[in-house]
Amino acid sequence: MLAVEDIHKRFGETEVLRGISLTAQTGDVIAILGSSGSGKSTFLRCLNFLESPSAGRIHLHGEEIRTRPDREGSLRPASHGQLTRLRARVGMVFQQFNLWPHMTVLANLIEAPRRVHGMGKAEATEKAEALLEKVGLADRRDYYPAHLSGGQQQRAAIARTLAMDPEVILFDEPTSALDPELVGEVLGVMASLAEEGRTMLIVTHEMGFARDVSTRTLFLHEGRVEEEGAPEALFSNPQSDRLRKFLSRHL
Ligand code: ADP
Ligand code: MG
Repeated sequence: MLAVEDIHKRFGETEVLRGISLTAQTGDVIAILGSSGSGKSTFLRCLNFLESPSAGRIHLHGEEIRTRPDREGSLRPASHGQLTRLRARVGMVFQQFNLWPHMTVLANLIEAPRRVHGMGKAEATEKAEALLEKVGLADRRDYYPAHLSGGQQQRAAIARTLAMDPEVILFDEPTSALDPELVGEVLGVMASLAEEGRTMLIVTHEMGFARDVSTRTLFLHEGRVEEEGAPEALFSNPQSDRLRKFLSRHL
């Protein structure tokens, strides 16, 4: 489904990603762990070109995302159409939800399918309602984001991402901005997506969730994959000292 080869990213003189590769089969749930500053967000953002990688290749469903270097030498999608298609296929859920504040929940869900896929309003609305049902927000359809709890906003943001039928969903610390009592409802939705066989990459500090739900876990350190493996092995028998220390702080 997704093959990422040797992604590098530098900001000026600093190389933040030093060659990260991974492959995800359909239905894989890859948890990405690492200390603050290890490059987790930058890596996810490179996968849908919110950041331009300095080098590397990305294949989606066997098809390479065509890129060309910009003036600074960072890789940009070869065309605007290519970028739009890529963003539709690779969805992202952010720590801060990023719902459009001036739109109701329903409007947030139907905007992109209408604009990008040219879906009719009735069809987009029907689909949005089914997704809101799925994330437990059917009764919040006409609310504005500011009138929802953080957990509800994040569930709405997940539904909005699903509305585009993405092939892969990237989650960047989706529960880190939530009050502790609201974390469970969001993790519950994510676990049900995993159960459905969705392909997901999840940056998280929720170790229990990573251990129980991921099919593979990666530990990043200073822009490299320091260790990766099945979650049972990684959590119960970490090989690297850095991962051992990281786990002792987070478990
Ligand atoms: P993480 O998500 O693991 O905490 P990030 O990917 O956000 O780490 O950041 C990795 C490193 O890249 C950090 O040292 C951060 O300061 C740096 N960095 C991230 N974004 C930028 C940017 N736009 N310009 C310069 N440095 C950046
Ligand atoms: Mg981050």
